[in-house]
Parts: sequence; structure tokens; C-alpha cells
Amino acid sequence: MLLMLLPWLVGGVAACAFLPQLPWQDVPSHPLADQHPALRRAFWSELDTPVLQSAPRYTLRFTVDVSRRLITGTASITVTNRTESPWSDVALRLYPNLAHYGGGNSLELLSVTSQGEPLPFASIESGTAALINLPTLLLPQETTSMDIRYRVRYPRHIRDGYWLFGEYKGIVALPLAYPILALPKSDGSWVLSDGIPLGDALSAEAAFYHVWATVPATMTLVSSAVVRATTPHTPTQQITYELVSGPAREFTLLLGNYQYVEQVVNDLRVRVFYLPGDERAAQTALHYALAALGVYQRYFGPYPFVKLDVVEASLLNRGMEYPTLNLLGTYLFREERDKLEFLTAHEIGHQWWYNLVGNDQVGEPWLDEGLTEYSTYFYYEYIYGRDVAERLRKTRWEIPLNYVRSRDLDAPLGLPATAYSLDNYETIVYGKGALFFHTLRLRLGDEMFLKALRQYRERFAYRVATAHDLQQMFESVSNTSLQDVFSEWVYGGY
Ligand SMILES: [Zn+2]
Repeated sequence: MLLMLLPWLVGGVAACAFLPQLPWQDVPSHPLADQHPALRRAFWSELDTPVLQSAPRYTLRFTVDVSRRLITGTASITVTNRTESPWSDVALRLYPNLAHYGGGNSLELLSVTSQGEPLPFASIESGTAALINLPTLLLPQETTSMDIRYRVRYPRHIRDGYWLFGEYKGIVALPLAYPILALPKSDGSWVLSDGIPLGDALSAEAAFYHVWATVPATMTLVSSAVVRATTPHTPTQQITYELVSGPAREFTLLLGNYQYVEQVVNDLRVRVFYLPGDERAAQTALHYALAALGVYQRYFGPYPFVKLDVVEASLLNRGMEYPTLNLLGTYLFREERDKLEFLTAHEIGHQWWYNLVGNDQVGEPWLDEGLTEYSTYFYYEYIYGRDVAERLRKTRWEIPLNYVRSRDLDAPLGLPATAYSLDNYETIVYGKGALFFHTLRLRLGDEMFLKALRQYRERFAYRVATAHDLQQMFESVSNTSLQDVFSEWVYGGY
């Protein structure tokens, strides 16, 4: 019960108190007004920042046919070249074609046009990406749009597993089931690395989504966006959801036989979607989610979105983060309830470190995983006291790292996901990552550490940060060179 009370009352929420909106205060002419329902009123002004005004925009219209496990749809993508190099092509990632998603040709591009004219495109990177040739060079600051017809086939899994993509026991999980822009590099090329099954595959800029999803009316839809309108189609027993997102790294959709519990705190709605029979665990997860939101807002800065969902999914005893949406494996709601709190606190930390502050999750996986992992230290310290947080630090991070070191498997933090193995990926990227942030905190003191972290969140919200950006931020806030600690932990002595 302790968990329900404290952080909200003393946390950062009061500063963003919701004021009811009067009709004449609406700004229908704002170019991003469609996205307003996804953001808390106090954060609408963030839509006026240049980074969001020039952010990519997606309009997706698709139908999910669950009997054929088939999605057919269109994607209209508007993108501005925000690099300093002209683009002769635009790269799209086709994540369902990754071996650990659907594999093969799960996501097929049927046509690509721009203003009605066909654009040639080629499959690259073993089908996990496509290169769209632009008719003319897209110069820096110029914008282009393309319309894509696509089709996605998703798998049905037959045994228990960590299933990010596809159907298992009536839950349909459809992350990244559309073509998404690759992350542009400053030299005009694109981030195209696939990563590893253990790590997150996505690297993306913050973008806006406006989605019309037609799905079976008998299933509950949960998504990374908010519902703006619904249109039932009685003869076909389908329903079309109109969904809008705030700035988001991706769009994700789940369908299932879900029920939910919720709590509304001012203008923020927190829900836990669960399968029949798991209501008690869902209530517990709701308490943890509320507590984590309160603690993280207090320490790291505000959460600008109107909703946060936690959803039971086919992920064993693990979790996965999406924008305003956190998946937790069914085991955590049932036989492994003792891990529910930690996983809830971890995944919700990603709303700050992955969705708000983005990074290349394949190239620098430790940046979001290490910081998210360390965020849980603040959660346990605030809720239960420092002794409990210290126990977490020792048992979850320090002992495993010492073990990995004893086997000569230590490695620097700053490597791409592909440089680690099954034997050391999690211990280094998560555990050593968390210990690195703890070391920084001890070096700078609590006040300076948190000031730098809040400024990192503020400066890089809706952007893509690098280890170098992190170092510069901590050095400038503390007015201290941290080259030695970054060299030792991140760059491996360089
Ligand atoms: Zn994580």
C-alpha cells in the first residue's frame, strides 16, 4: 500500500497541474493539432520546438485479418532531411523481416510513389531494409513525402517463448508492422544494423503517428497511441480505431482478450491490461507503475504523455518497452510475481531513456539499458530506502559483473550489441551500465548527478543522444572533466 501513496504527492506532478481547456483556447490551426490528444495540456507547447516541427510524420491505414494473420495497408511518410548531406535515397527498415521477428519476406513493399509517380526501390540488408530512390536530391532542410502500399504476414507461435512479434495463445503483438524510416547518419547514409535477438533492434527518430487500424471488434486493442475515434463496421464485425501519438520512436499494436484496471491522476491515465484470471497481479502492477512514474518524474523530469499502459504479453518473465506502452511477460503475472516489481520499474524507466531521449539501440545499447537499469536504483531507494537499493546494486549488478570478470568476459560499455555474446551482453550492457552511472553519481554527488541527468533529459528529449553527448552534458553541468571515468568504463581505455 505504501507504493500507492508517496511519490505522486511529493513528485513532480504538481508543477504540471492540469487546467481544464476552454473551447476558445483550442488551436485547431496548429500543424500538429491532431496530436494534441496524446499530450498533456501543459506540454502542447513542445510541439512548437523545431525538432518536433520537422519530425517525421506517418499516416498508417491498415486492416488486421487475424484468421489469415495478414495486415494490408498504406503508409504515408513525410520526412525532412535534417542532416547536413543531401539524400539521393531514403532507407526504410522492414523489421518484421528480421529472423527473430517474422523472418523471410514477412513485410513486403507492394509499391512506393511520391505525388503519384512511382519511385524505384531495392531490397537491401537481406530484406530487412529497402532503399527508395528519390527522383532528385533532397537537400538539407528539404522535405519529401512518399506513399507506400505494404503487406505483413505475422507468425503464429506454437510453444511458449519470448515472442515480440506474432500471435501466441490469442495475443497478437504487432510492433513495427509497417515500413519505418531508418535512423539517418550525418554523412547522408543510414543506420541499418540488425542487432542481436537479445537486444532491441530499433533505432529511430521521434515521429508523429496518425493511424486508422481496422481490427476484429471482438478483440481489445492496445497501442502506443491514443484513441481519437472509433467506427464500427457491423456487417463484418470489425472496428476502425483512429489513433494519434505524441512524439514517439515507433508505433505498436496489440490485440487480445484483455481486461484492464486503471487509475487516473490529474490528466494522466495509467492502465494495466491483463488476461482473465490475472486481475490481482494487474492491481499490484498498477501500484508499481504509479510509484515508478512518480519517482521518475520527481528525479528525471516530467512525463508529457496522457497515458501509460502496462500490458501482459507472451514474453516469459521478461519485458519490452514501447512508447507509452510497456509489455510484461505472463510469467510475471503468475508464477514469478516476485519479479513483477523490478520489471515494471525497469520498463517504465525506458519511457525516459529510449522514448523521450532516444539513442541508437544497436550501436550504443548501454545508453538506454544502463541508464534504465540504474533508474530502478532510484525507485528502490525512494520507496524502500537505501539499504534495499544497495542490495539490488550488489546482487543484480556487482556480483554478476565480478563473475563475468572472473571468466575474462569483461568488455567496455561503448560497443555495439553485436560485439557482445550471450555470456556477457546483459551483465555488461545492463549491469555494468548501471554501475557506471552509480560511479558517476558517487563522483559528482547526488545533487550534481541529478541536475546533469535532468538536463540530459531536457536537452535530448525527442532527439538521439550518444555517449559523447552524455559525457559532454555531465562535464558541462559539473564543470569537471570526466574523461578518466568514461575512458575506463565506456571506451575501454581509449
Ligand atoms: Zn530495458
